[in-house]
Amino acid sequence: MKLLVPVKRVIDYNVKVRVKSDYTGVETSNVKMSMNPFDEIAIEEAVRMKEAGNAEEIIAVSLGVQQCQETIRTALAMGADRGIHVKTDDELQPLAVAKLLKALVDKESPDLVILGKQAIDDDSNQTGQMLAALLDWPQGTFASGIELADGKATVIREVDGGLETIEISMPAVISTDLRLNEPRYASLPNIMKAKKKPIEEITPADLGVDITPRLTTLKVEEPPRREAGVMVESVAELVDKLKNEAKVI
Ligand code: AMP
Repeated sequence: MKLLVPVKRVIDYNVKVRVKSDYTGVETSNVKMSMNPFDEIAIEEAVRMKEAGNAEEIIAVSLGVQQCQETIRTALAMGADRGIHVKTDDELQPLAVAKLLKALVDKESPDLVILGKQAIDDDSNQTGQMLAALLDWPQGTFASGIELADGKATVIREVDGGLETIEISMPAVISTDLRLNEPRYASLPNIMKAKKKPIEEITPADLGVDITPRLTTLKVEEPPRREAGVMVESVAELVDKLKNEAKVI
């Protein structure tokens, strides 16, 4: 079985994100970038599938600027076998990413695409669902458990009311949630080995995909600052404040 795992390069989750002074986006120069945490979980799950004998090959894919190759290298050091870098300096919105991934799926014919439920930069939570729709494949989103048997995947999904278990036939798209697993750290020998693994570089034009943005960002702003809370003496005072100050009841 072949697994395709998209890995996005995003601002590291420990970094305090700053809005640009012209409100066109967020500051990314001189900012630490890392693999999207949900994609680390996706790579970890793929590597576990391979270790369990359920998969033969893991392809890590990243779309974007030259430095995305660092993200692919991290995936290779965690256990992916080879990488594909779809190189572009242009903005990529989820629909364009889904179309590019579909073109790669057509080329590589994986049995499973495992990707993050969302990228923590734009928090779109769209790519996996759009990809499944474009491919007309079953999807198991927000997975916190995956079991493979007889060409089918049993996926435990994190839904609002708790957990939902579904069975989908493969090929399929699965998106990872936080509790699926705890990703490993790449060991030094594996980081060294990853340097020798191949990364193929292609462009959106090679894949025949139009990546023109369909959405326009009007303005990016910080959320309003939260004011300090006050301690109330009694329930009556709380109700009074909710009624007369906050005017929410
Ligand atoms: P999103 O729909 O933007 O929240 O992203 C969901 C998932 O799609 C991410 O966790 C990644 O697995 C994948 N993805 C989105 N953009 C990219 C990209 N530029 N390169 C690789 N994977 C991506």
